[in-house]
Amino acid sequence: KKKIAVMTSGGDSPGMNAAVRAVVRMTIHMGCDAYCVYEGYEGLVQGSNLIRKMEWDDVRGWLSEGGTLIGTARCMAFYERPGRLTAAKNLVLSGIDALIICGGDGSLTGADKFRSEWPSLLKELVSTGELTADQVKDCQHLNIVGLVGSIDNDLAGTDATIGCYSALARICEMVDYIEATASSHSRAFVIEVMGRHCGWLALMAGVATGADFVFIPERPREHDWKEDMHRKIGKRKTIVIVAEGARDKNGTKITAEEIKDLLADKSEGGLALDTRITTLGHVQRGGTAVAYDRMLATLQGVEAVKAVLDATPETETSFIAITENQIVRKPLMKAVAETKKCSEAVDSKDFELAMSLRDSEFED
Ligand code: ADP
Repeated sequence: KKKIAVMTSGGDSPGMNAAVRAVVRMTIHMGCDAYCVYEGYEGLVQGSNLIRKMEWDDVRGWLSEGGTLIGTARCMAFYERPGRLTAAKNLVLSGIDALIICGGDGSLTGADKFRSEWPSLLKELVSTGELTADQVKDCQHLNIVGLVGSIDNDLAGTDATIGCYSALARICEMVDYIEATASSHSRAFVIEVMGRHCGWLALMAGVATGADFVFIPERPREHDWKEDMHRKIGKRKTIVIVAEGARDKNGTKITAEEIKDLLADKSEGGLALDTRITTLGHVQRGGTAVAYDRMLATLQGVEAVKAVLDATPETETSFIAITENQIVRKPLMKAVAETKKCSEAVDSKDFELAMSLRDSEFED
């Protein structure tokens, strides 16, 4: 019987539980044994009770739970070969030969490295006497499939990552609340959202709430961004959405504090707006997943198990994407390499659109 394990790793995202549930139940449905590795790569390195067999009923009710019930962690040991060596030993000892990992680009990079090193890890474990040749003979190939769990929607090659629409919905809800009070008091609000490298959340929230200004990492502001704000400032209220990683053309970080100082400047010629900063922080990550993320995680979880069962030793490590409403398998490392460029996540047309529909554009 094939043994398929699932784990969640890196930053948690809404929908991860739906992914784990789908993998566990699809694995059992296909007549295989399902396992969960708890606490991300930490669970692989520590082994023993962090690698647990799962039954159908163990994941009952998980679709509507936020966070990840099997835990996630940032694991320093897994960055180094000795950590991955221990992880390999634990997998062999538990008889697991396929691993489905739901995480961000870091987790998936680690997964690909682990798989490519697998033969040499086994060799070393045998040569140092940690395992016998007999123990490793049936696990010559580790099969790995990735699921992208990330609120940032920062992976190239997929239209959406598991969790991004839940985080976006949460941000929009919060901006709506803030907008109501901002209009009532003629105040300006600078709202900081997550996104150190990828501005998808900030940009889409800007489009969806009609924000007056959006600052994102991929669209560095011209040096005159301060003058631009002076020109376009609204009368009734001002909502600015700024991603954590926003920058200007020189690569200098643009902070919420700096934008607030500009809006609140009381000196001559200053905007002198009553300005507040709201940092949304972890409310963006937490809470239950929206329907889209549950559906995406479930369909992709099913496909991940199928991909594991179809794989041969020659198959490239793949991840499960969604493009044009189709759930598809794609080569993992190509997508991870492209992520660093942040090219695909933000379409420049959308940016102009978001900006040109704001209230202040044609205010009397
Ligand atoms: P995310 O998956 O959300 O991008 P991280 O980048 O923190 O989050 O990665 C999560 C974990 O994946 C790390 O703590 C580490 O254990 C593992 N990992 C990340 N990058 C690598 C890498 N290059 N090599 C090996 N392991 C990695």
